[in-house]
Amino acid sequence: MTKKRQLILDIINQSTDHLSAEQIFQQARQVYPQIALSTIYNNLAALVEMGAIRQLRVQSDFDRYDRATRHDHLVCQECGQVSDLFWEDLTRRLERQVGGKVLGYDLNIQYLCPQCKARLEAK
Ligand SMILES: [Zn+2]
Ligand SMILES: [Zn+2]
Repeated sequence: MTKKRQLILDIINQSTDHLSAEQIFQQARQVYPQIALSTIYNNLAALVEMGAIRQLRVQSDFDRYDRATRHDHLVCQECGQVSDLFWEDLTRRLERQVGGKVLGYDLNIQYLCPQCKARLEAK
């Protein structure tokens, strides 16, 4: 793995913020000031392909990138904030349902985050 690819992987693995490519680009630039946004995109695509990271499409605005470890997501309907949810792994149960191998699944639970809930209730 190239140093730049390793850096991008480290940025994602050390973050719980579900970063966009743009945010990863800003962080990578602190180490490699000359790095191009296209380099970020190319490496992100390769890392997704390798299964080293996950690509999230939770809202239509832009993709976010996340650690590959098994977890699910809470998505705020108001502000789009994504929080991790560590819940049971449903793979076995899903496999029993579909009668075959399940390669993966994405569980995005729509909710109102505490801040938005408080803001809406205060209106
Ligand atoms: Zn919210
Ligand atoms: Zn996550």
